[in-house]
Amino acid sequence: MALLQISEPGQSTAPHQHRLAAGIDLGTTNSLVATVRSGIADTLPDADGYHLLPSIVHYADEPLVGYAAQKLANSDPLNTIASVKRLMGRGLADIKTTGTRLPYDFVETDAMPMINTAAGKLSPVQISADILQNLKQRAEKSLDGDLTGVVITVPAYFDDAQRQATKDAATLAGLKVLRLLNEPTAAAVAYGLDKNAEGIHAIYDLGGGTFDISILRLQKGVFEVMATAGDSALGGDDFDRLIAEWIMQQAGIAEDAEHQHIRQLLEIARTAKETLSTEDSALLNVKFIGWQGELNQQQFKQLIDPLIQKTIMPCRRALRDAGLTVGDINDVVMVGGSTRMPRVREKVSDFFKCEPHVDIDPDKVVAIGAAIQADILAGNKPDDEMLLLDVTPLSLGIETMGGLVEKIIPRNTTIPVAKAQEFTTFKDGQTAMAVHVVQGERELVTDCRSLARFELRGIPAMVAGSTRIVVTYQVDADGLLSVSATETITGIHSEITVKPSYGLEDQEIERMLKDSLEHAKDDVATRTLREQQVEADRVINALRAALKIDGDRLLKQDEFLTINTALDQLLKLKDGTNAQAIKRSIEKLDEVTKEFAARRMDASISKAMKGHTVNEFMEN
Ligand code: ADP
Ligand code: MG
Repeated sequence: MALLQISEPGQSTAPHQHRLAAGIDLGTTNSLVATVRSGIADTLPDADGYHLLPSIVHYADEPLVGYAAQKLANSDPLNTIASVKRLMGRGLADIKTTGTRLPYDFVETDAMPMINTAAGKLSPVQISADILQNLKQRAEKSLDGDLTGVVITVPAYFDDAQRQATKDAATLAGLKVLRLLNEPTAAAVAYGLDKNAEGIHAIYDLGGGTFDISILRLQKGVFEVMATAGDSALGGDDFDRLIAEWIMQQAGIAEDAEHQHIRQLLEIARTAKETLSTEDSALLNVKFIGWQGELNQQQFKQLIDPLIQKTIMPCRRALRDAGLTVGDINDVVMVGGSTRMPRVREKVSDFFKCEPHVDIDPDKVVAIGAAIQADILAGNKPDDEMLLLDVTPLSLGIETMGGLVEKIIPRNTTIPVAKAQEFTTFKDGQTAMAVHVVQGERELVTDCRSLARFELRGIPAMVAGSTRIVVTYQVDADGLLSVSATETITGIHSEITVKPSYGLEDQEIERMLKDSLEHAKDDVATRTLREQQVEADRVINALRAALKIDGDRLLKQDEFLTINTALDQLLKLKDGTNAQAIKRSIEKLDEVTKEFAARRMDASISKAMKGHTVNEFMEN
């Protein structure tokens, strides 16, 4: 939860105890690693002096990462994997429906997507791990020691599966993840915006293949992601394509030019685009047909303005989603290599009516923010530097029948957050409900941490399943969890406040996450069986009670017999271990009792409404 104090009060580490930590921007197009040295955060170059590492891996005998892999993209496309970030935490069906077209040889499977390569079947997690490993080696070589831990950035919109996949990749690369940090938060931290008391910031991130706009609110030292929007298929690559098409027109190259010619043209286009960020014009030299030309600023603007305009729409949407107007934004931060284009800066400045922050190299800014956080998390800062988190580290759930956990707020949800879930009574005439609040990733209550218990009393006695109890979990900016339960017909209400992170050490969080991964399979099987057993008990109890009260009154003899046969069948199966058989038997019983249940529900409602007007119920 938020407000985990990372460094012990009063204990600042002496210089000789300085722990090596790094921030990693694991990007779709480029990745970087940065660290804080002598109080200054900066990115680390490779042996050739390059700071950026293209997020591309080539597989043959040994994985090759970065520029070396990029060179092989043309000659060996199926073994050269780029943009793997788009696949993280996604199923193959997902990837296909989101329209991400990646030219790899995917293994058809329902589980994690795998790509066939010369080095075997590889998952996106493994491929990302190879990129991370490369950055790890770079950092350890240049810092001359092992890294204690790293902060890795992820897009603010990444869901739990995508975040988990990123973390798994780090583990696989032998890295200890101190924290996953939202990319826009990292950018804001790099500019020291977290040092202000409060403010609302827009982070405009135009990278190689994606555009993201995030609206962050800083309050009492906690960053809240108010809204995110963007376009997952809009980035620098699209600018390159546009220029390449223009060159083809100018040079009279046929539209169906050969594949390698298109590649070359894209290269020429990208170089021209990058040149135009600082020069008045760019020379174009298309060697394979012996054509030369020039692209000037005027022509360039005309070409790219529609693309830049396409980023403004999501900016409007994000503001609207956050319930804000342009005037509410205090700072705009530019992130991503493509925001080097002066025209992009100009348009963004026009829209937000303020000068954006551009002092820090826009393709390094995320890694730098991550490095600053990593430095604090590793314990290298004096006691007044406290790190405030902006996400829940573990899921918050509620105990349901059979000692199972229903997750209400999944871990890594940005805070503040409120989520509600509806529950109903298990037994006929039940007038109280126990709410047990737990924290953790496992399926069984006994494997999670118990945070609090309370009771909701005074539920009107009704047939099981006909009351509606709304349980709301709310985590505020201080990391305080409050849980409330309300019965919707009468409005009776009960609540409790807990501080879930209290006493929970980082190591403990790590252990709980590890356990959940290790036991994931058993847990699912146990859960399925338990769920069916609980459901069987519920159905049997409810049916028996109902038969006792209304069986004679509402059922004919043959109906009664059919129901009894199905009931006996379920009683026989329910203590066994075949979840599927129990499920089928419940379904069967459900089917033969439908009519009976309907007759009872009618009777119950007309009784409950006696002496009341219909309007009374409508108002509640
Ligand atoms: P990502 O976050 O997607 O990994 P980056 O932030 O590294 O990507 O951005 C890469 C994009 O930035 C590429 O399309 C590249 O052409 C573009 N880019 C880099 N430098 C410049 C520049 N000087 N002018 C214009 N575009 C640039
Ligand atoms: Mg990026």
